[in-house]
Amino acid sequence: MTAEGYVASLTHPRYGRRMPDHTHFGFRDVPLTDKQALVDDVFHKVARRYDLMNDLMSGGLHRAWKDALVTAINPPKSGRDFALLDAAGGTGDVSLRTIEAGGSGTRATVADINAQMLGVGRERAAERGLDDVVTFVDANAESLPFPQQSFDAVSIAFGIRNVPRIDVALKEMHRVLKLGGHFLCLEFSNVDVPGLDALYELYSFNVVPAIGRAVVGDAEPYRYLVESIRRFPRPNAFAEMMRAAGFARVSHRSMSGGIVALHSGWRL
Ligand code: SAM
Repeated sequence: MTAEGYVASLTHPRYGRRMPDHTHFGFRDVPLTDKQALVDDVFHKVARRYDLMNDLMSGGLHRAWKDALVTAINPPKSGRDFALLDAAGGTGDVSLRTIEAGGSGTRATVADINAQMLGVGRERAAERGLDDVVTFVDANAESLPFPQQSFDAVSIAFGIRNVPRIDVALKEMHRVLKLGGHFLCLEFSNVDVPGLDALYELYSFNVVPAIGRAVVGDAEPYRYLVESIRRFPRPNAFAEMMRAAGFARVSHRSMSGGIVALHSGWRL
């Protein structure tokens, strides 16, 4: 969706006025104040099976996408101190991968609004003996409980489209980043390879909810996830939002035919 399309889609169908107090929850227009509770309900339902579902839905591809993200985060291999904030970090997958890729000075903070997702993450970190280097914090990306300029890098993977006020969260992530720090956002994007687009559409709207029903016992959360991908701004529109939040040298690259994009920006 273009930036204009995104704004137009928030326009009241009868009165033609933009509804600034409304946003999307999948294909539904909902009051801005309702979205977070609806999103929280989705992740409460899927938390236990979240990582398994990622493997099943993406055929394991999410691992390659997250590897690309961790390579871009570029934690130092030396013992130099390096602090990552992984916003909307869920079960801590990106943080754990970053710790494993980095040297002895690498630390990660997972900030997520959902206690169930954080709980699964804490267990995983403890199982791997990494609970002393990964911290889990119950936090809303729109209001991060960290001082300004605290982190060398801030990442958000498949999280930003779930946040009700994307512009507010981008400003917060910019605020907590150190000068010279790197912001990276991995998010679903727009498939624009002829042939693959139709196949992807069919797979997303039919196979993904069916896998959800079989594994989690409910297709609805996965219908939301698929719909929310279609409502997310196109990469160029999102790049504009990043610039508006203060990020410099903004760029993105598409992966897997446009299924996902890795967005990059710097605090300079
Ligand atoms: N980043 C993780 C990953 O890639 O595996 C989890 C991604 S999951 C699709 C989206 C996450 O965003 C969920 O854990 C959800 O609780 C979190 N989330 C949604 N709204 C949020 C908000 N306002 N602040 C922080 N986290 C939020």
